[in-house]
Amino acid sequence: MTRAILSDIHGNLEALRAVLDDIDRRGITRLHCLGDIIGYGPNPRECLDLVRSFEICLLGNHDQAALFDPEGFSAGAERAAFWTRQQLETQTDPANLERLKFLAELPRTRQDGDFLFVHGSVRAPLNEYVFPEDIYNERKIQKIFAMIPRYCFQGHTHVPGVFTSDCRFLRPADLPAGYRLGSEKLMVNVGSVGQPRDNDPRACYLLLDDERLQYVRVDYPWRTTRDKIRAIADLDDFLGDRLEQGK
Ligand code: ZN
Repeated sequence: MTRAILSDIHGNLEALRAVLDDIDRRGITRLHCLGDIIGYGPNPRECLDLVRSFEICLLGNHDQAALFDPEGFSAGAERAAFWTRQQLETQTDPANLERLKFLAELPRTRQDGDFLFVHGSVRAPLNEYVFPEDIYNERKIQKIFAMIPRYCFQGHTHVPGVFTSDCRFLRPADLPAGYRLGSEKLMVNVGSVGQPRDNDPRACYLLLDDERLQYVRVDYPWRTTRDKIRAIADLDDFLGDRLEQGK
C-alpha cells in the first residue's frame, strides 16, 4: 500500500493542508512524518493536531527545541523556538498538555521492513545534515551508507533528492517518472512541506510503495503564511519571505 512521507512541516498550516488534500485525493491513508512538525512557522498547535493521527511520526530537532533548550540554533531560530514553546505552554489552551505529551513521546527512528525512517541521518537521527554537496565527501557518505540496512528516508536539510551508494545525488527534476527501488541501498531525502529550500516554493512530499518512489509538489497560498509570520514579532520576517523563493 502506498505511503505518503512528509517532513519539515515547521508550523506551516497552509502548506500542510494543501499536502493533506492532495494525499486525500489520491486515496492514500498511510501517512508518515519525519519530524520538525513545528518551529519557524506560525501555526504549531494546528500542525501538531493534524499530524497526531499519522501512522508514523518522528521527533525532529525543532520539535525537541520546543521541549528543551535549543542547541546550535541561530539567534532567529532560537527566538522562533521560544515563541513556539510559548504557544504550547499557554494554559488557556487545555489541549496543550496533550500536545506536549505527544511531542515528548515521539521516537527518533522507526524501522518497518526494508524502510528505515529518521529525521537527520541514520548516524545522528536528530541532528546530522546530509546535503547534496556531501556526495563529494565520499568518506561521510560511505560511513552513513554502511549503517543503512537497505533504504533510509530522511529530511532535515529541506532539500529533496535520492543519494545512491556510489555517491550520486538525483534531484526530483531528474526523476520525472519517479525512481524504481532495486537491490542497491538508497538514502532518500523527502524534502520539506513547510519550508522548501531547493528553489521551488511548492510544498514537497514523497509517495512510496514497495517498488517505487515519486516526489510530489503542491502549490499552496504561501502569501497567507508569510503575512502571518510578518505579524508575529518573534518570528523573523525572513522566515516568511524565504517561502516565496523556496530557499
Ligand atoms: Zn527542518
